[in-house]
Amino acid sequence: LPQPLQDALPVLQTLNQAGFQAYYVGGCVRDTILQRPIHDVDLATSAYPAEIKSLFAQTIDTGIQHGTVTVVLNHENYEVTTFRTESGYQDYRRPDHVEFVRSLDMDLQRRDFTINALALDATGEVHDLFGGLEDLRRGQIRAVGQAEARFHEDALRMMRAVRFQAQFGFPIAEQTLAGITQNAALLTKIAVERIHVEFIKLMLAPYRKLGLDSFQATGLASYCPQFKGHDCRCLAGQSSQPLTSEAVVWTLIGYLWQLPPTQLRSLLRAWKTTNETQKRVTRAVTLLQLNTWRDWDLYQAGTKSSQLAQEVLLVTGKSNWAQELQERQEHLPIYCSQDLALGGQAIMEILHLAPGPEVGRLLEELQQAVVARKIPNQVIALTQFLQQKRN
Ligand code: ATP
Ligand code: MG
Repeated sequence: LPQPLQDALPVLQTLNQAGFQAYYVGGCVRDTILQRPIHDVDLATSAYPAEIKSLFAQTIDTGIQHGTVTVVLNHENYEVTTFRTESGYQDYRRPDHVEFVRSLDMDLQRRDFTINALALDATGEVHDLFGGLEDLRRGQIRAVGQAEARFHEDALRMMRAVRFQAQFGFPIAEQTLAGITQNAALLTKIAVERIHVEFIKLMLAPYRKLGLDSFQATGLASYCPQFKGHDCRCLAGQSSQPLTSEAVVWTLIGYLWQLPPTQLRSLLRAWKTTNETQKRVTRAVTLLQLNTWRDWDLYQAGTKSSQLAQEVLLVTGKSNWAQELQERQEHLPIYCSQDLALGGQAIMEILHLAPGPEVGRLLEELQQAVVARKIPNQVIALTQFLQQKRN
């Protein structure tokens, strides 16, 4: 067993010794079999939440009503979830009824894809009700049960399908893909935050090109905020390098779709990105949309936005521009107003000024002069510059 699963073994054993069934489930089983790194270890058990809590010294009520208790063991958190079935799903996103059951099989049935519906017990035996092992071996994403029905229950699963495709490079099984194409419009029932998570995972995955092809071809893309009318396939870029951050994803989109600043901002807001992301991405895209760069443009973009722009240029096959941007960014005389040899206080003293907007204007002028290399960033030179301005 990989280390994270080894570490969680005492949790399974404690449950087993108390007479309950307990299994590793979901992504950690799939990733163990694929020999991929494991990020979180999820456990499923026949024990009810109160029973789970009674067996462990430290627990957190993560989602008691859904049957999830977090067990804290050796400073690691393990989500332990009671076997359950789900029914209802009148709103295409969450079940109206969750019922705790004592059967593993019923729990596995509610899971989205066969490769995610595997359970592994403490003895190392894999429980595979739906051919998940075979799907992992040949490589395919296939819904558990009737694809159409499963996407009606929870439309987010359609996004998860294309996300897993991008992560593993597996094709989506024919019926499953047809189910997505039929039901793509149901994506509008899902909260944008949840779509966002899956879309970014898709974009940061190694096989984003495959995921994007399905995302576009099934029509899912056109039901995402402000994506209609744009081609998502081009977002794969020219390079097979994985993208390194969410901000790069949005910068790539702004650049390749040639979005004007207001439209870019509106798209970023519609996807509920953070203000920080909006700021950085907007600056990076502004930089990318210029025909030529003055040092002042690079300075105003800032190091972080310039790095975003560089990564996007690399991904879109413009490595010489990326190189130029990097070199010029590295050789800027200063990177922020704090780097100036003179601060606001010094300016006020030299020119006998009271605090006010004039000080800000002079600071800006100094920055422009230094960045454009009209004067060196030294106290004497800056002082002279100020005094000349006064005369
Ligand atoms: P990741 O590697 O991204 O964590 P994961 O498969 O573990 O992938 P999670 O969102 O952590 O995904 O969910 C854990 C498990 O819960 C899944 O493997 C799947 O069995 C089940 N699951 C999660 N979301 C859904 C859903 N929307 N519908 C049905 N089953 C789901
Ligand atoms: Mg997981």
